[in-house]
Amino acid sequence: MHNLQLLARRALPALLFLMASLIIATSGHPQLVKWFGQLTYLPVISLLIAALVAMKFSRSRMVLCCLLLVSMEFTGFWPALGELAGVTLPVTAILMAQLGWLLWSRDKGFAPLNATISLSQLAAVAVGTTLLFHQLSLQPQSWLAPINAWLYPDLARHFSALEAVFYLLVLLLGLGRLAFNPTNNHCALFVSMLMLPILQYQSQPLVSQVALFALAVLFLFSIILDSHNMAFRDELTGIPSRRALMQYVQTLGGKYVVVMADIDHFKAFNDTYGHDVGDQVLRMVASRMTGITGGGRAFRYGGEEFTLVFARKDADQVEEHVESLRRSIADYKMVIRAPDRPVKKSRGKKKPVKKSGLRQLVQVTCSFGVAEKGKDQGSFEAVMKQADVALYQAKKAGRNCVKLS
Ligand code: GH3
Ligand code: MG
Ligand code: MG
Repeated sequence: MHNLQLLARRALPALLFLMASLIIATSGHPQLVKWFGQLTYLPVISLLIAALVAMKFSRSRMVLCCLLLVSMEFTGFWPALGELAGVTLPVTAILMAQLGWLLWSRDKGFAPLNATISLSQLAAVAVGTTLLFHQLSLQPQSWLAPINAWLYPDLARHFSALEAVFYLLVLLLGLGRLAFNPTNNHCALFVSMLMLPILQYQSQPLVSQVALFALAVLFLFSIILDSHNMAFRDELTGIPSRRALMQYVQTLGGKYVVVMADIDHFKAFNDTYGHDVGDQVLRMVASRMTGITGGGRAFRYGGEEFTLVFARKDADQVEEHVESLRRSIADYKMVIRAPDRPVKKSRGKKKPVKKSGLRQLVQVTCSFGVAEKGKDQGSFEAVMKQADVALYQAKKAGRNCVKLS
């Protein structure tokens, strides 16, 4: 479910951007024709720039993808390769299979051995696809009749039924990869794959120029987005990090509430269930924190500590929301697999509440300290310190409670 949401959030804007570019390109607006007529090398240059930036970020698959797309712009390249091999190459199918291969593999970097392996794999995919098409074209093609009927003449002029089936299969496999691992990088690679049959169908030079330029922009954008996420999101929990908090603080006005939250007896929990289960709990608590109501924003401050910030609110307004968050965490029973370390006697309160085969249910609690910005507290740091003092009081009062500064 989470993956599907991510997929929709990442892939939809990319697809919409691409479709918008294509629609603009097919409109053939005279100004656009004039611009791209003067800048015929723009797609190649922008793809090479995207490849250079991707290289800096060790995105070897994106670099290869850019180079494959650039190869399409050098119209003589693929026919020359085909002549050398003595066959007609199914260029779009080869490129799609290669992009599909890149989508399913992983970034290997640019060490000479790894680069050689990647290039050899791409060459093998090209040879494999060519052989497959050659073999299949020799077979009786009666099974393709319904697809041929479905490909109304307009489409059939551009691809054979065999190609259509192949594209569909490769796209479905790509979509599978994307659904399991919906990163911005994978979205960009998938959208490039999707673009290839469209380019084969639409042979206007302006459309292919605009499409390749749009892909280069998409690659650059996906690198920037991933770098932004790396900088401002916590890697373990995926929620905004302390750096994001410090940036958000600058946008706050003169009235706000800061809440410091800390998981109770978490060291003992880790000792009992192991660090991996501890990480799972951190993710669960983080997702509860981001679900905070009342207009609060959640950040992972570090370790097992979280910070909530409520802009334009005072302490009385947020108390009930923090209280209901505390309850929702304390009531949540998390299913874990068997402990990955021998269970020790825990000093803390958190004990397995139920055992069922190899699974058991665990619970954790959190303590909260709330402080609002007063007239005499100038800085965010001072308010946070107050919230920390209140958190300490909550711990002293027996934990699993909310204390106001
Ligand atoms: P208290 O109720 O007083 O807060 O006790 P505590 O045990 O939670 O506090 P303490 O500060 O002694 O321990 C914090 C523990 O949080 C230590 C460390 O094992 C754990 N921790 C911090 N960061 C992570 C993390 O990223 N993953 C996991 N699994 N544990 C972490
Ligand atoms: Mg702590
Ligand atoms: Mg703690």
